[in-house]
This record gives sequence, structure tokens and C-alpha cells, in this order.
Amino acid sequence: MLLLGLAVLGLIASSPCTAAPVQDSLSTGSTRNKLLLISFDGFRWDYDRDVETPNLDKMAWDGVKALYATPAFLTITSPSHFTMLTGRYIENHGVIHNMWFNTTTQEKKQYYMTQFLSNYYLPTSKMSPVMWAKINFIQVEPHFYDHSNESEWRVNIDKVIDEWFHQQDLDFVSLYFGEPDLIGHTYGPDSPERKEMVRQVDRTVGYIRDKIQDHGLTDRLNVIMTADHGMTTVLRSGQVEEIILSKIPGFSFKDIQFQLLDYGPLGMLLPKEGMLEKVYQALKGSHPHLHVYKKEDMPERLHYSKHPRLLPIILIADPGYIVNGFFPVHFNKGEHGFDNEAMDMKAFFRAVGPDFQSDLMVGPFDLVDLYPLMCHLLGIKPEIHDGHLNKSKDMLVPQQPQEETMVVTPLQISFFVIVAITPLPHVSTFTAESCTVSGTREYQGKLQITICLSIYSLICRVNTTLMSRELGLESDITSSNEAPGQRVRGLTSWKIGQRLTGEKLRA
Ligand SMILES: [Zn+2]
Repeated sequence: MLLLGLAVLGLIASSPCTAAPVQDSLSTGSTRNKLLLISFDGFRWDYDRDVETPNLDKMAWDGVKALYATPAFLTITSPSHFTMLTGRYIENHGVIHNMWFNTTTQEKKQYYMTQFLSNYYLPTSKMSPVMWAKINFIQVEPHFYDHSNESEWRVNIDKVIDEWFHQQDLDFVSLYFGEPDLIGHTYGPDSPERKEMVRQVDRTVGYIRDKIQDHGLTDRLNVIMTADHGMTTVLRSGQVEEIILSKIPGFSFKDIQFQLLDYGPLGMLLPKEGMLEKVYQALKGSHPHLHVYKKEDMPERLHYSKHPRLLPIILIADPGYIVNGFFPVHFNKGEHGFDNEAMDMKAFFRAVGPDFQSDLMVGPFDLVDLYPLMCHLLGIKPEIHDGHLNKSKDMLVPQQPQEETMVVTPLQISFFVIVAITPLPHVSTFTAESCTVSGTREYQGKLQITICLSIYSLICRVNTTLMSRELGLESDITSSNEAPGQRVRGLTSWKIGQRLTGEKLRA
């Protein structure tokens, strides 16, 4: 049975409400439309260009298609999904990798190895609203599971649409599929197998939309579909000179206290005391497609330097290259984790529903901006985040001015997260040693990864008090550079970046 995970989250509303527009809905008394967030892992932005995708095309005609969405760096599954759900860059939410590690004990754990270890996912208070949750009940997925099974995808979809949205009247559900990531790793992004999986995704999109219509939810349910990253073809020996650290003159593993290598294009090193400069100088310039940074010198645009879990030396390979340690150990044909400016790392994006415009093609935007958009759709006051609602709000139907009304409305949120149990070659697992922050072990990331990734099927029903927004100030956009709790109100005071364009979609 597919549904192995069930978690009921009881949550917590902390802020006093301000105001929100109200209309009555079926049972909550709220006017907010429901929201379904779907992530198809590794669905690259252009995967619909070489395959017939009638259902994805229809979704674009009925709603919004973005040219692409740029994931945060590091472009791998756990960090990227945390960015989606928190609106924080990876250096700010702290889920810096798929891998758990402890530089003192030399432990490395794939995420699923920590699933039953409760001390890996103790919550802290600094989470996005939906994450301030107490997990009351969880069931966890099996370690081995066929994530490409289409009939089981439909069982899960039935669960989400029939039971949670229709019968239980939940407001927010997030749904995860482990494909086409796995097929992209195994066969490569240009393979016939990947194209066939995109057809399966397309059929699934049609199934979801039919289900929504059958249950009369079309006018009450917004649907966002996106992905955590793209995929690119790995270049192998014979085509190129591979990056193998052990073969680099002047570099020795004897100088290294801890290393995180062989997980794709990103490597991290903790040199032994006094060895940092020697290691850095040996690696710097050693391979034309290897970029070597001291942590503090990482390009600011990557937002991947500030977190204490990040190790002192960070290695990033150019697209197609892998950072190998002693020798190549993984032989994926496709990989991700590269610079998020690389087009092959971009993700697809579609949205449809009563709050979205129809037949609209918009320019690219960053996945970090998804969180404020979702909070806006749900009428939730966002936590501190790094996103910008004004970069995505042009997708929405302009709001009619409404009289502000003080409301306290229960918001029911569910997460249904189906997780890819990645095969060994996959870049998987998460994070650094639960680092010490102000003398306290911090497990913040793990709670989220448990919710977001480790749990094969996770349902979180959250009852909270709606933290309404102030009409006209769609979001309290807050800079991560500011002190916690400090907010910048009003969009005019915020540096506005690239705005979306409003070109109509041309089929
Ligand atoms: Zn992957």
C-alpha cells in the first residue's frame, strides 16, 4: 500500500490576526481558495519540448506557465524543497545538503537512515508557519519502493483529492513525486526513458485535473506544479578529463579531517588544523572545470556561504563534471547540483486555479519566491523569508478592493509528501553535523526534511488560526539580513528585481 505515512500536525498560531478578505466557503467560513503544491522531482524546464504533453499544455492555456523557475543553489532535492517551503536561501534555512554528517565522529547518513532517530528532527521555533508543527502521528515509507509506479501515483492522488480536499476540506496539500529525477539519473536527460516518464507525468497531470473537476473543486483549488531542479548529462572519461582529487599534484587526503565528496558536482572539505591554505592552493586552478572556493569567498549570488554547517573549502564542478575523491564511484548518466545559472538546472512551472490568470506566459522567477506566493494565496502572514511576492504576483488575477474584516479562521493544512528513495548513485542525504549554535544543538533542518523528503507519504493536518494579511500589503517581505522578527512593510521600500513579463502564451 502506498500510503505508508500519516502525520497529523497540530499547530500553532502565534501572531495575532490582522485582516483578510472574507467570503464564505463550504465549511470553514473562509473565502480563501485551497492550494495544491506538486513537485515532480527533477522535471527540467524544457522537458515538455521534445515530448507531446497535451495535459501540461492545457494547464498552461487554462493558467500560467513560467518560462522556467530557478532553484536555489545547491540544486539538489532536500535543500531545494526546503527553500520552496520556507522561502529562505539554503545558507539561511540550513539544510545545506542531502547528506547528514558529523565532522567530529565522521558520520555520514543518508536521510532515510535518520528517519526513526527522533533526535535528528527535534523542532525548533524558527520555522515557517506551516513548520511550527507538532507531529502527532507519522508513518514512514519503506526503504525500497518503485517510485515510477503510475497506478500507485493515482492511489495517492485519489487520497489527496477525494479524502483531503473534498471530504476533509483541507486548505493546503503538498504532493511529491520522485520522477522524472530517478529516470534522469539512470538513463540521462536525453534518453527515451526520460521522455516516456514525461509522458507519464503528463497523463498524471490530466488525471489530477479530471479528479479536481469531478469533485467540483475547479473553482476553489489553486494548483502549482514545479520541480526542485533540472538535470544534465554527465561527461565521462574518454569524453573529458574527469575531476579526481587524489590525482591532483600537491593534494593529499592526509591533510583532510573530513570530506564530503562523490555526491555529484559539489564537494566540501574540512582540512586539518593549519592545512587549509595548503589544500586550497593545491586545488585552486588544478582543473579547468573545477571551481575552488574558501567558504567566505563563495559568489554572493549563490547564497551558499554563511551557514556554519558549510565546510571551509567548497568545490563546484562545471555542468557535466563530477567531483570525485579517490576515484569515480558513481556512474549516473544524468546529474544535478550544478550552478543554478546553468539552464539545465532550471525547473518547470505551471499554475492554474481561480486566483491565477489564464493563458499567460510569464518570465522566469526564483523558487525562493514561491513561499510568499503560497502564503499570499492561503492568506497566511509569511515568516521571515528571502523571497519577493512582487516577482510572482503578476500571475494572479488582480484583486478587487474589499473591506477589511477582522477574522480568525481555521486553516487546515496537509502535506502529502511522497519521497524518492534514491538509489545509491543518487546525490542523496542531507546536512551537516547538527551544528552548535549558541551552545545548543540545532535540529531545525531535520524536522523539515522529515516532512519534506524523508517521509514517503506524510500527511500533516494542521489546525491553526489564520494569520491574516493586510489587504494591499500582500506580504510582509522581510530580509534575511535583518534581525529576526524585524519586518519591512510595503513593497515600495523593497528593491524590486526583474519583473515578470506578461506575454500571452503562444502554443
Ligand atoms: Zn536527483
